[in-house]
Amino acid sequence: MSRSPVRESVTTIGRDGTRRFLQPAIVIGAWWRARRLVAWLLIAFFALLPWIEVGGFPAVFLDVEHRRFHLLGATLGLGDVWLLFFVITGWGFLIYATTALLGRIWCGWTCPQTVYLEHVFRVVDRFFEGDHVSRAKLDAEPWSRPAKFLRRGGRALAYLVLCWAVAHIFLAYFISIPGLYPMITAAPQAHPAAFVAMAVATGVLFFNFWWFREQLCLIICPYGRLQSALIDDDSVIVGYDEKRGEPRGKAAPGVVAGDCVDCRRCVQVCPTGIDIRQGLQMECVACTACVDACDDVMTKLKRPAGLVRYASLRELAGGRTRFLRPRTLLYAALLTVGLIVATVSLLRVQPAGFKLSRPPQTELYVVSADSVANVFRAKIQNKDDVERRFFVEAEATGTRLTILNQSAGLIIAPQAEVTLPLTLLVDRRDYRGEFNFTLRLRSDDGKVSVLQKAHFIGPDPRTLAR
Ligand code: SF4
Ligand code: SF4
Repeated sequence: MSRSPVRESVTTIGRDGTRRFLQPAIVIGAWWRARRLVAWLLIAFFALLPWIEVGGFPAVFLDVEHRRFHLLGATLGLGDVWLLFFVITGWGFLIYATTALLGRIWCGWTCPQTVYLEHVFRVVDRFFEGDHVSRAKLDAEPWSRPAKFLRRGGRALAYLVLCWAVAHIFLAYFISIPGLYPMITAAPQAHPAAFVAMAVATGVLFFNFWWFREQLCLIICPYGRLQSALIDDDSVIVGYDEKRGEPRGKAAPGVVAGDCVDCRRCVQVCPTGIDIRQGLQMECVACTACVDACDDVMTKLKRPAGLVRYASLRELAGGRTRFLRPRTLLYAALLTVGLIVATVSLLRVQPAGFKLSRPPQTELYVVSADSVANVFRAKIQNKDDVERRFFVEAEATGTRLTILNQSAGLIIAPQAEVTLPLTLLVDRRDYRGEFNFTLRLRSDDGKVSVLQKAHFIGPDPRTLAR
């Protein structure tokens, strides 16, 4: 039985704690059309990205097997995990900045949960089970009725196929399309791990879209709960213009009424089952369905649209929205700085790793008849998929520093790592005391140039007889 939403409890949980399934009505308005366009663009982007190659690899490829991440032509290894710092903090500041400015625009327009639920799975619902009234009737019918069994069974089958397809695309980000194809065509026992991963992903998606639905936003996603901290009076939210709408009800001689005719169309279309007229609520995912619904009602009544609209709490109270305020400026500044640093860092990622250390239990320096020597241990990693010849060169200001046995270079296989000793020599006659120097790892094809700074240790030059 339908129950009027109240602020104090969640509409989708009954008084006895049982789940109440919502069957929101569809409303096709300007916002819905715009959101559908964005949703289909996002779905196409998600589905096509594994097919697009940049630098010989998928544009985004989290190669778990080889512990590498290919991102737009750059190859990141485990040693580049620190770059995740930028991804996580950048994402955080982007969410902060957009929420402070535009409320839960992420939830309503781009969150995969909303995108798939509203623009894929609810389309399937309507195809098999009709509009919200028919679906609600079907809910109440017993399973023994063949019509219910066929309709709901057909819908479940369509859900399974869709979840299976989404799970495969998702898996392609981890094993690539060329890696995925033989797995699809082979028997499950040929690739048990991939099969289990795909089956689990399909099952989780099915559970989520078939049964859990809006509960993910209401119970699990922390973002809705964070909104009270991220949103202020100037954030643009989906809101009801109480000043214009109240007192709600039908106008009649001697009855003063606002523009809200209390038709409850905005409640009928809400996918989380709330009444926007009760003010900003944690359950509101800013999907704009109530905006379209109310605009439709207002148009039919020949009244101006926008009784429910995108507006800040300040605007709804009669003031003017301030977009430029300390928090939005601070978020924008931090976001810009982070973006610049992340871009520069990503551009400087090299297809090779180069680390220097001193071998344990060796002398810090060795003085021989004609030189002073320091021994280092170099770890060189070829992160690429091509074999490369590497050279290590020493650069020191004012001192001639040579490396023993390095002229022929070192060939390292794709994805391999080599650790080798490096002996650096300074002629006794040139030695003027300890100094800093730089070692450069370069490749013969010019694609690698990694610098490492180090310190040359030696005795007091005055103690050395020339
Ligand atoms: S759709 Fe508009 S007019 Fe109808 S109840 Fe909602 S706010 Fe009032
Ligand atoms: S209140 Fe409106 S914007 Fe918020 S979730 Fe419901 S329909 Fe969407």
